[in-house]
Amino acid sequence: MNLLKQKIGILGGGQLGRMLIEEALRLNVNVNILENSKDCPCYHLAHEFIEGSLTDEAKIMELSAMSDVLTFEIEHVNTEALIKLEDEGKTIIPSPRMLQIIQDKGLQKQYYTEHHVPTAPYFLVNNKSEWNEAITKLETEKFVAKTRKDGYDGRGVTILNSQVILADNSLIPYDVPCLLEAFVPCEKEISIIVAQDIFGTTVAYEAVEMEFEPEANLVTYLFSPADISKQMAEKAKFVAIQTINQFKSPGVFAVEMFITLNGDILVNEIAPRPHNSGHHTIEASYTSQYEQLTRIVLGLPVGCVGLIKPAAMINLLGDKSFSGAYAIKNLDQLHHIEGVYLHLYDKKESKPMRKMGHITVLANSTEEVKAKATKVMNLVSFEPIK
Ligand code: ADP
Repeated sequence: MNLLKQKIGILGGGQLGRMLIEEALRLNVNVNILENSKDCPCYHLAHEFIEGSLTDEAKIMELSAMSDVLTFEIEHVNTEALIKLEDEGKTIIPSPRMLQIIQDKGLQKQYYTEHHVPTAPYFLVNNKSEWNEAITKLETEKFVAKTRKDGYDGRGVTILNSQVILADNSLIPYDVPCLLEAFVPCEKEISIIVAQDIFGTTVAYEAVEMEFEPEANLVTYLFSPADISKQMAEKAKFVAIQTINQFKSPGVFAVEMFITLNGDILVNEIAPRPHNSGHHTIEASYTSQYEQLTRIVLGLPVGCVGLIKPAAMINLLGDKSFSGAYAIKNLDQLHHIEGVYLHLYDKKESKPMRKMGHITVLANSTEEVKAKATKVMNLVSFEPIK
């Protein structure tokens, strides 16, 4: 295969696209981007850049015409247009039909139930009037309400107390179609990056364990391998691979899972693209999640997923106290620490909790990597530029 002649088109020009371009360029593959605005992380790196909405069919057709294969780095795109293209013979990875299921948290959950993927009990509701019945049937002290569409990074997700909502329906936060799900008291939250090539080979990376920023519900740092037993790690990989195999689509996926207090594994959700929980694979794995997707869309077999060293990844999130031009303090000090890799996403303005970059740290053990991650987190901070 002549990689040089291949052009990948990506719907979306955010940091995931940017990191995919970085890896694709290493393989001498060009990447075309469709994104709303030139003020995005991919603009300066794209081979061709189309400014336009990810739901605009004409723009998607334009991207398709200049690209050999298409993929996406965000779920909120026009799937009907992609399905039309796929039916005309265009290669789109992952399959837009899978994306259609994933885009709707209700359909995603139903798909899990139909395909025996272990997941938390749930009910679907269309509007406020259906909440009481669903909450009563769930029979849990707490539940999680999720809007079926357009939520991301914790937006459109609220943890609620059943009795409080039953006593006062005016506290119901959403009056749109929702998924009401039993709250899972869990031991750990983990994620596994799974890759499937066009030949149907499916591989899973080592599990990563997540730490969350409680207020915004964003991952603040993660580490891999997760601090779980060997058996649990194998079980989690098995569930992740089985889950992805149900969808019969090539691509790179993040399977987010809960390990319950009883040691059961429940699938929370799938991201059908490279994921925050796989950033560390750039330095820590033999094949990064971005090279993996590049290989898969070009029809190559999946690469080796082994972890070279224990790793942690810290999201550099915009400070909660301001929006606007920014400087990052103490970055110079990072260079004195061995095994620290800085990634900046070229975002012009900081906003509260916005993902501005990340730092990967490598070490020889999980303990060492966690200590190093904490040190790095305490060092770096954002400040406004006047
Ligand atoms: P998003 O698509 O916005 O990432 P998620 O469904 O992943 O939304 O939920 C965000 C976070 O909320 C999860 O990572 C987890 O911390 C918490 N959460 C979601 N569902 C449950 C649940 N059923 N039980 C306990 N916590 C949950």
